[in-house]
Amino acid sequence: MGLLDVSNLQVEYESPRGMFKAVDGVSFSIERGEMFGLAGESGCGKSTTAYGISRLLRPPARLAGGSIVFDGKPLTSLTEAEFRPYRWSRISVVLQSAMNNLNPVMRIGNQLTDVILAHGAGVSVRDALRRAEELLALVEMPKEKLASYPHELSGGMRQRVVIAMSLALLPELIIMDEPTTALDVVTQKGIVSRIVELKKELGFSVLFITHDLPLMLEICDRIGIMYAGKMVEVGSAEQLLGGARHPYTQGLLRSFPSLSGPKVRIEGIPGSPPNLVEPPAGCRFQSRCPHATDVCSSLEPSAINDDRGMVACHLYGSGEGNHEAIAASQSR
Ligand code: SF4
Repeated sequence: MGLLDVSNLQVEYESPRGMFKAVDGVSFSIERGEMFGLAGESGCGKSTTAYGISRLLRPPARLAGGSIVFDGKPLTSLTEAEFRPYRWSRISVVLQSAMNNLNPVMRIGNQLTDVILAHGAGVSVRDALRRAEELLALVEMPKEKLASYPHELSGGMRQRVVIAMSLALLPELIIMDEPTTALDVVTQKGIVSRIVELKKELGFSVLFITHDLPLMLEICDRIGIMYAGKMVEVGSAEQLLGGARHPYTQGLLRSFPSLSGPKVRIEGIPGSPPNLVEPPAGCRFQSRCPHATDVCSSLEPSAINDDRGMVACHLYGSGEGNHEAIAASQSR
């Protein structure tokens, strides 16, 4: 059992066009000390998955099913009060824009010490201040910045403060949703490198979400690829780079330039994701897949787990149902 085990997670949204499942049966696990990436196009459900795990879903979104087990304890059945000891102390979150995490009218030092005092039993103000200085040092910022307001810091520094805040109580899991997306590439590289170093030093696990697949392949131990609310493939960076199996993952990899390998033509993935209010029967990638057959439009592919990771596609596996269905579709 991993540190985090997510099984058959379902998140529903009520929209003017009807109810739809933004996350539909997603399963994965994260080991202790592992950096697990979630990638996919906008709207594929990766951030919604993170919000479901960290209980940050707000109406009209709601957790509709599945289980989330953290360190052997089921989280889905906990009340908000029962979940509170987990928030910040064991599971913390870094959101996309630092300004969404920081109070614009409070000094950085007060915001850091507030988190430490609110969740650390018996901590004195003096100890909290010392800890706040240590936290800024961890993200390579001088302690003098404790006196600053968020608007007095650059975007990169604000995001470093948020990362420092997420580390305040030494959580076992940090969920990072596009933590460097709004930053320039040089700042992004500095922050990402520091996150990787801190993970090694402190031993926490990370659920890292980004649409930047090349970055993810560089820093994550394993990566889950999501499409239209489903997990379609999971593998290590080596497995995906050496031979991604799902046609969607293959298309994503062809959509980015390679910095090291031979020059290849960059190709997008033609078409667009399906309408999730009325998703198609069978595989959700069928309208964009160059390998689609009849069975793909009638039978949803099941997840195949083997020594190359997980893939959900009718092209793979020894699933009896798949072969029977393919044979049946071919005889029609
Ligand atoms: Fe393509 Fe069929 Fe595999 Fe879906 S199940 S990715 S449509 S081959």
